[in-house]
Amino acid sequence: MSLPAYRPPEDPGLWEAFLERLERTLRVAPLHPTTVEYLTHPKRLVTVSLPVVMDDGKVRVFQGFRVVHDIARGPAKGGVRLHPSVTLGQTAGLAAWMTLKAAVYDLPFGGAAGGVAVDPGLLSPRELERLVRRYTAELVNLIGPDMDILGPDLGTNERVMAWIMDTYSMTLGSTVPGVVTGKPHALGGTEGRDDAAGLGVALILKEFARRWGFPLEGARVAVQGFGQVGGAFALHAQRMGLKVVAVSTSRGAMYQEEGLPVEEVLAHYEATGVLPRHDLDPEELLALPVDYLVLAALEGALDGERAKRVQAQAVLEAANFGLTPEGEAYLLGKGVRVVPDLLTGGGGLLASYLEWVQDLNMFFWSEEEVRHSFAKSVAKAVTEVCERAEALSTDLRTGAMVLALERVNEATRLRGVYP
Ligand code: NAD
Repeated sequence: MSLPAYRPPEDPGLWEAFLERLERTLRVAPLHPTTVEYLTHPKRLVTVSLPVVMDDGKVRVFQGFRVVHDIARGPAKGGVRLHPSVTLGQTAGLAAWMTLKAAVYDLPFGGAAGGVAVDPGLLSPRELERLVRRYTAELVNLIGPDMDILGPDLGTNERVMAWIMDTYSMTLGSTVPGVVTGKPHALGGTEGRDDAAGLGVALILKEFARRWGFPLEGARVAVQGFGQVGGAFALHAQRMGLKVVAVSTSRGAMYQEEGLPVEEVLAHYEATGVLPRHDLDPEELLALPVDYLVLAALEGALDGERAKRVQAQAVLEAANFGLTPEGEAYLLGKGVRVVPDLLTGGGGLLASYLEWVQDLNMFFWSEEEVRHSFAKSVAKAVTEVCERAEALSTDLRTGAMVLALERVNEATRLRGVYP
């Protein structure tokens, strides 16, 4: 049959990747069986069909998803991804990862994720708006500031968050800013959200450079992925004195031995959607002789084969599931330091938490107050992950996983099983 009909998801995708990492960690630090049962069964998996009137008058139906993985530690929190690769399995894996990431940062959130299988670049702005509003309308009884809070991820930005907030608020008949994070400032968005995910990566790199005795001033860094996370990271890294020698997008990489003029490159990319020039294939960036390699593109970017070409002394995984287990094992075996996504990729979630707290109170902080609180929480998470890894004589990923699982376990135990 060749009709473009809905077909049941066959691809377990990132859900399988989550289970694999969970199983590995349980060998080091066993958990109470009840918690394992909870964590291996997402609380709620929703698939919705979204009819959208296209600009030519025809109706197209898109598949949307929302998964709440676990709520032991608080309301669910997670991004909305608009990308052709979105499946239920991918969404479930990302939701589980949010449960753990929130626990690493000790935030009172459970984990969720959502998205629509679509290439937003192929929709007109009006089509995109209709799709996002319909997605929100389908989920309206399942989301809310104390139930499930949505935020940006691949393919979504503050414009999209504003549409979700407006659709939810219009349906309820009252303005509810706390249902989404990553909103425009005029709608209750926080100061310091735009670049938070990238700033978090830069602060973490700086802290680990200090701990390892690695260079910072003049050190060379290559950044895979030049979007919201990679772009903001590159800017902050340059301000800290690092030399950003290469950045890449899915189309190509730009390389400059003496360091790129990051602000100019970013302004060009934001205005045109492409880098000013392509000096390398995106794959070649991974093999550059640099001090630090930052992964800020997609999951599975560095597998066992690609890891063999890495020359960096340290890899910072900002993208969720950026490294495959084989890629990580190879790097660690070669003595390359790896800072895992549960820590490196937490800046966006942390800023979302600060936004949500302000929305609930309808009392907004200055940029200085937000930055101060942000930096304090990043430093605390780094210290706690390092302490856990040291106590168990293990790598940072296992340390982060154990820290998170212990926290979820404690909340699950205290809440008990209803009814
Ligand atoms: P984005 O869509 O803004 O940017 C992604 C970038 O990666 C783009 O520049 C794209 O061209 C590039 N890219 C895609 N495939 C590539 C390839 N094969 N080689 C090189 N570059 C490639 O997305 P983002 O919001 O910056 O998110 C990046 C990653 O970080 C994702 O994995 C996301 O889940 C994760 N993340 C994002 C946030 C956030 O707040 N935005 C927070 C935590 C984690």
